[in-house]
Amino acid sequence: MAKYIVIGGGLAGISAAVFLTKNKHNVLLLEASPKLGGRAYSFQDKITKDVIDNGQHILVGAYKTTFELLKIIGSQNLPEYQTKLRATYIDKFGKEYLLEAPHKFYPFNLLQAILKFGLLNFNERVGLVKFIVKLLYLNEKTIVEKTVLEFLKKNKQSENSIKVFWKLLVVSTLNTPIKEASLKMFIKVLKEIFLNGNKASTIVLPRFGLSELFCNPANEYLKKNGATVSLSEKVLSIETNGEEIIKVKTNKREITDFDFIVSSVPYYSLKKILPSLTSRNLPVDSMETSPIITIHLWLNENIFADKFYGLIDSKIHWVYKNRNHISIVVSSAEKMIEFDSKKIFHICIEELEKFFPKIKNTEVLHYKVLKEKRATFKSTPQSDEVRSKIKSPYKNFILAGDWTNTQLPATIESAILSGKKVV
Ligand SMILES: Cc1cc2nc3c(=O)[nH]c(=O)nc-3n(C[C@H](O)[C@H](O)[C@H](O)COP(=O)(O)OP(=O)(O)OC[C@H]3O[C@@H](n4cnc5c(N)ncnc54)[C@H](O)[C@@H]3O)c2cc1C
Repeated sequence: MAKYIVIGGGLAGISAAVFLTKNKHNVLLLEASPKLGGRAYSFQDKITKDVIDNGQHILVGAYKTTFELLKIIGSQNLPEYQTKLRATYIDKFGKEYLLEAPHKFYPFNLLQAILKFGLLNFNERVGLVKFIVKLLYLNEKTIVEKTVLEFLKKNKQSENSIKVFWKLLVVSTLNTPIKEASLKMFIKVLKEIFLNGNKASTIVLPRFGLSELFCNPANEYLKKNGATVSLSEKVLSIETNGEEIIKVKTNKREITDFDFIVSSVPYYSLKKILPSLTSRNLPVDSMETSPIITIHLWLNENIFADKFYGLIDSKIHWVYKNRNHISIVVSSAEKMIEFDSKKIFHICIEELEKFFPKIKNTEVLHYKVLKEKRATFKSTPQSDEVRSKIKSPYKNFILAGDWTNTQLPATIESAILSGKKVV
């Protein structure tokens, strides 16, 4: 039984702490803020008293380690699981297109879903099926293209299918514009989702807030199983003797009694507490972050029949229907992030009125705009290269976090997988 200090109580730190505790290690989890969750948490809206997330989060059936963690902490039954893929797309004229697997017999159900997908013309649908089948046999070493856009063009995906289908899929999965998005990472995502059985391609929607799903049950699990969770305890610095970590200084104490330190803080926070990490041993200087904006909207009437909609060729990307409010997501929101909340709200309403004309007859009771400037890192060919070089330079120091080399984009699954890898 070794003594671990886990720094950072986001999903990566929670995951590391839970898997270590399950493996009978002694764990102290230090989190700077007064709550767990990091970039994935919920809180009570002051006006409506509803619990809302800092940003709408979606899981997919392919998130194996996430579901493993949820099972350990006892909250696997809280989300709503699709039995087969179903997603509604909508265009600027309010016309809906369903991407729906007609039955559970994989892979025919997914191929049929694409062949019936009215958003694309017949040739585009066949082109899409051919493209996905090609992925099965693809030797990635032979690919010369670096970005998703280059590859789609080379593989004869039409301008229209790029505009109405691929753009939204890329920006939602990688939080990166299609022109810059890493092809390697996108192929990995497509393979995980579409070539991994029926469940992998399904969408898993939260029915409760993120803190109720992850943070609170994990906190209870940890405490019940002998781990210590210390909130509002910020690590100020980490000292080394050149070979290993010898001391952790926090705003409350100095700690020297440990076997291993796990860092689960983002790379930009890590550099502050461990300045001896130079760009040689942590070459993350070229990694860029990418924002996400979520607009929570309370209307006096529910006009949405489906649980969520993908908006085709719009400034806003997804609309999710929650219990009492809707949540609108703008991924890769560089163009909007500096606007004030009022302006973002107006852009959002303008777009919604085009796609859902019925919204003109409703009254907005309340809205809340949440801007996460550093929601994720940008998934580009450069970030792939940087991540492949990330390695801890100290023997008792382990790195976790969505940005480490999990071979996944910055997602819940990447964070949780990085935490599990600590064990
Ligand atoms: C708006 C938004 C929407 C998203 N949507 C999705 C989605 O739909 N699906 C999906 O899979 N992913 C989504 N993501 C990405 C996902 O939330 C992140 O990838 C994941 O939460 C990252 O977890 P992490 O533990 O690696 O990092 P973080 O969550 O950043 O955790 C790091 C923790 O370390 C703490 N910390 C920092 N410095 C110190 C210090 N010195 N001492 C102690 N503690 C410290 C921080 O307070 C924080 O709690 C979204 C992210 C955002 C912001």
